[in-house]
Amino acid sequence: MLVRTCCNKFISAVKSSVEYRIICKKSDFTKNIYNVNRRNFNKLEARHFQFFKDILGGERMITDQEEMRSYNEEWMRCVKGISSMALKPKTTEEVSKILKFCNDNNLAVCPYGGNTGLVGGAIPVFDEIVLSAELMNEILNVDENSGVVVCQAGCILENLDNKVAEIGLMIPLDLGAKGSCHIGGNVATNAGGLKLFRYGNLHGNVLGLEVVLADGTVLDCMSSFKKDNTGYHLKNIFIGSEGTLGFITKVALQCPPRANSITLAFLGLQNFERVLRTFKKAKQDLGEILSAFEVLDTPTMEFVNERLKMNSPIGDFPYYLLIETSGSNEEHDSDKLHQFLESCMEKELVLDGTVATEPHKINAIWSIREKIPDVFKDCGYLFCYDVSLPLENYYVLVDDMTQHMGKLAKKVFGFGHMGDSNLHLQVEVDEFTREIKNHIEPFIFERTKQLNGSISAEHGMGFLKARYLNLARPYNTVKAMENLKKLFDPSGIMNPYKVLPW
Ligand SMILES: Cc1cc2nc3c(=O)[nH]c(=O)nc-3n(C[C@H](O)[C@H](O)[C@H](O)COP(=O)(O)OP(=O)(O)OC[C@H]3O[C@@H](n4cnc5c(N)ncnc54)[C@H](O)[C@@H]3O)c2cc1C
Repeated sequence: MLVRTCCNKFISAVKSSVEYRIICKKSDFTKNIYNVNRRNFNKLEARHFQFFKDILGGERMITDQEEMRSYNEEWMRCVKGISSMALKPKTTEEVSKILKFCNDNNLAVCPYGGNTGLVGGAIPVFDEIVLSAELMNEILNVDENSGVVVCQAGCILENLDNKVAEIGLMIPLDLGAKGSCHIGGNVATNAGGLKLFRYGNLHGNVLGLEVVLADGTVLDCMSSFKKDNTGYHLKNIFIGSEGTLGFITKVALQCPPRANSITLAFLGLQNFERVLRTFKKAKQDLGEILSAFEVLDTPTMEFVNERLKMNSPIGDFPYYLLIETSGSNEEHDSDKLHQFLESCMEKELVLDGTVATEPHKINAIWSIREKIPDVFKDCGYLFCYDVSLPLENYYVLVDDMTQHMGKLAKKVFGFGHMGDSNLHLQVEVDEFTREIKNHIEPFIFERTKQLNGSISAEHGMGFLKARYLNLARPYNTVKAMENLKKLFDPSGIMNPYKVLPW
């Protein structure tokens, strides 16, 4: 019997969390690396400091240089700002006063959540004031009848999930950074993650938002209904706006019931053609209980072995799949999965596999996939890309990139949320140089476009991809985005140099 029960010798269950301590091995200031000019914002003066101190008191206004390091540096060490102040409001009213003042005084602002973003969105490029949601972490209401949770934007995703778990619900969003990222940051980036395949994206699951605009206006788009067609759906404009249109202060989110039967299969496959066939078969055979479909290639598993000291539980294969089912009837779900796997074996789609049903074994297998980004910061330098591709072209980009890099790269590897056509492609090099960057970009984005893909699947554009928006979207669409930005933020103080081309 090739499919066997998962043994726990190879990994220990590890709680997913991102430690974003910064070891600044290589990063220079963003302003020095990139050809970006500071816009004509005012610089902070003593009277500005006094105003913020009057609102927040000394403790919630950070100016100490050492403390400012974590606000100026991204956990991946790809961008580095020179801000001299971070503000930590607790209420919507405080956010409103701060933004109004910044707008009136032409001071640029950088919204900051859990700092787990991967495109440099939450880090100031120059001396923008950092506006952190970390103290806005109150869960305001959990409605057992409707399953709607209302909370402040700074709530940590995992804490929210633990809270709704108490009444048998779950947050319909799950990502490796859940121990650090904020729900406000998730909404601002329209985060996808491991469960999007089953539960859909945040445009569907966020029912309401409260947002403070650049001039301090509080926009109440709160709702607890799935159905609420009272005029334009303004909240959707802010989902994925990456802090460039306003500061999200409250979120209402629908929570589905927590599945009481979860099963995870870890499989080894011979080639990508079989991966694709297995995906189609999984959708067909597993239907409503299929909840995640993730792929890893051999170089990714090598990376996992070397950096995370974890091994594949089934030996070495060219491709690996993680297929999760979740439902309400353990016997039914388990039968369905085993029938599917046996049929895959008979058809020689899958070479070997293991199935986990106990929570600690499921967590242990998931951690092979989820913990990959945790060690990115320990690499010489890692160029990370997050693209969507039609499934027939899904792995073509990894092969093309491997060939394009030749000996310039230490490793090129691909893994991702294949169920959502989302590939994470990494290029590891010894150290960052402009030459290598220019060798990779715009090649990778142009090739993605040729393959009919999207250059940002779930991480957003932030600072690092903003220049390529024109490549990704037609002229008129980018113009409409610029007009929208002017409408909500005429002075351009909200997260400048992000999303829109600089
Ligand atoms: C280990 C790991 C795994 C990850 N896995 C996934 C994944 O599977 N799927 C995925 O989509 N992403 C993933 N990410 C990326 C990241 O976790 C998400 O983008 C997340 O949503 C960012 O949330 P944050 O609170 O850390 O936001 P930050 O990084 O602090 O900010 C991200 C952006 O949102 C803006 N922002 C933050 N808070 C607010 C606010 N209150 N109002 C307005 N704007 C705001 C910032 O200005 C910035 O532009 C992963 C990251 C790591 C480190």
